[in-house]
Amino acid sequence: MPNEAENFSARAANIRKVPVVIKERTLKKERIMDKYICTVCGYIYNPEVGDPESGIEAGTPFEEIPDDWVCPLCGVGKDEFEKYEEAS
Ligand SMILES: [Zn+2]
Repeated sequence: MPNEAENFSARAANIRKVPVVIKERTLKKERIMDKYICTVCGYIYNPEVGDPESGIEAGTPFEEIPDDWVCPLCGVGKDEFEKYEEAS
C-alpha cells in the first residue's frame, strides 16, 4: 500500500494530460481549511462561508484575510483569533 504522498504523485503523473483547470480544481478540493475562533467573543470564522459582509469571499482561508480585518461581532483584530479544533 503506497503512502499518501506517493499516491498523490502517481495520480499527478497520470493526470498530466488533463487540462490545467481540472487539476487546479482537484487540488483545491483536497485542501483543508482551518476554522478560527475569536478568543474574545467566541465568533468562529468558517473559511467555507467567509465573511461576505466584510468583503471576505466564501472560500478564503483565514491566513489570506487582510490584516485590517476585524471580528464582525466584537471588533478585535486577527491577533485575537486562534485555530479552532472541532471536537471529533
Ligand atoms: Zn470577536
